[in-house]
Amino acid sequence: MRRRIAVIGAGHHGLVAAVRLAARGHDVLVLEAASAPGGAVRSAASTLPGFTHDICSGFFPLTAASPAFGDLDLALDWVNPPVAMVHVLDGEGEEVALHRDLAATIDSLEACAPGAGVAWGELMRTLWPHRHALISAGLSRLPPLRDGATLLARLRSRALELAPMALASSASLGRGLFGSDRAAAWLAGSGAHADLSPQAAGSGAFSLGLNFLGHVVGWPFPRGGAGRLTEALVTQLRERGAEVRCANAVAHIEARRGRVAAVRLAGGERLAVDAAVCTVSPGPLLSLLPDGAFPARVKERLRRWRYGLGTVKLDYALSAPVPWPGPRAREAGVVHVGGALGELVTSLEQAGDGRFPDRPALVVGQHSLHDGTRAPDGQHTLYVYARVPQQPELSDDEVAERIEERIEQFAPGFRKLVLARAIRSPAAIEAENPSLRGGDLAAGSCELDQQLLFRPAPELCRCRTPLRGLYVAGAWVHPGPGVHGVSGRAAADALLADQRWRVRNAVR
Ligand SMILES: Cc1cc2nc3c(=O)[nH]c(=O)nc-3n(C[C@H](O)[C@H](O)[C@H](O)COP(=O)(O)OP(=O)(O)OC[C@H]3O[C@@H](n4cnc5c(N)ncnc54)[C@H](O)[C@@H]3O)c2cc1C
Repeated sequence: MRRRIAVIGAGHHGLVAAVRLAARGHDVLVLEAASAPGGAVRSAASTLPGFTHDICSGFFPLTAASPAFGDLDLALDWVNPPVAMVHVLDGEGEEVALHRDLAATIDSLEACAPGAGVAWGELMRTLWPHRHALISAGLSRLPPLRDGATLLARLRSRALELAPMALASSASLGRGLFGSDRAAAWLAGSGAHADLSPQAAGSGAFSLGLNFLGHVVGWPFPRGGAGRLTEALVTQLRERGAEVRCANAVAHIEARRGRVAAVRLAGGERLAVDAAVCTVSPGPLLSLLPDGAFPARVKERLRRWRYGLGTVKLDYALSAPVPWPGPRAREAGVVHVGGALGELVTSLEQAGDGRFPDRPALVVGQHSLHDGTRAPDGQHTLYVYARVPQQPELSDDEVAERIEERIEQFAPGFRKLVLARAIRSPAAIEAENPSLRGGDLAAGSCELDQQLLFRPAPELCRCRTPLRGLYVAGAWVHPGPGVHGVSGRAAADALLADQRWRVRNAVR
């Protein structure tokens, strides 16, 4: 039976859900508050004409690995740099590289700390035969019964040895594996993509997972910009007869007899619907819900939802590539400007204490080195973000000054190359996308108490909600942030399964 379904939010989770629902013949309308679709997957000429910047997400290992994208035949040309990531340790050219090629990564780690490469090689060779089961278990709906059981059966006795790694901090995991703080910094730097200090429980699994994916699928990105991924999803949506309406914020969800009945837009228009998939995070979601939609306990959990560190994002137009002293950094897709392990810890801890870090840990992207469409000939883009307090005490110019000083320490001569820059503070990120409250790129802290069943609550983590006909998806729903579409697809599947059940029962 054809149903009218509203999808609230045209981020990638909303679009993945909408494509799946439209493919089953439903009447799907995606409602988006912003003037363009994509949410945190967009590109823009934010600095100068001719420069294309990924204004939020810039690297897509999770997309490449995700089963939710596996069966979407998206028309995209992927760029996959052989050197996925380099962690720069100082301004003298000391660096450790994550190559897609395992042997090259082993060499890089060995050069940094004898024995570290061998240890990484052993761990990767242990995990490699189970890579598909590991990815399925990590990127699936809860509980991952089938994938988890497959994994346990395959790993057998080694499971007990490896399981503690899932809980360890990246600092202790790195030190234990490599016996060296310098090599441990390479591992822990990947945790700066989330809001996890290298000393936070669970940060080890996050860093290990990201670096492991570097070998399995690389850290690729779409040629032409992240926005191409959104365009490809919107094209699929339209081919299936669905529609995206931008500049149409949803202000309220209406219920009748305990079931979703309509959505009301900020402009006052009321659209009758049979079901809705909401992808906006708990802060804005609470203001959309009708009275009594959720039990008080669930509402309280959403009210107490903890957004993580803020993010500042900078886009640069450069006259030449960044002059890193180390050769691998000059060819890497991503450079972690993190320095020593202690510096990484201090940066995340200062941010957690509400202070703008003295020496911020930076995630730096060099798309134009590998994708000539991003900048005019000979010129380059640079993508930079740092995890910072939600309300930094510094002005945008002071923030940019602090960040440029940090890059200059690791790549002397950088400043001379800057043609233009665009900066977005945590407040600006939230203003553009209210789902990213406080500029938290993950729409909710990634600390352990907000993971699995508790992302965001046992009643919602499988995408169903206590209000019949309302489903949830997004970075704040298990398995969390990143461009993988898992909860978007899971919400659509839950809706389709409930729909089949209702139709069967109506017929009986
Ligand atoms: C700076 C930054 C860098 C990142 N880097 C990476 C990366 O390199 N790789 C990676 O995998 N992930 C990265 N991420 C995280 C990733 O982009 C997000 O986790 C993911 O895109 C979230 O998708 P989503 O669909 O859940 O929500 P979003 O993309 O946040 O979409 C939510 C949408 O809902 C809309 N909305 C909000 N309120 C309403 C309303 N009332 N009515 C209608 N619409 C509404 C918003 O405008 C938005 O378009 C990054 C994020 C940021 C911010």
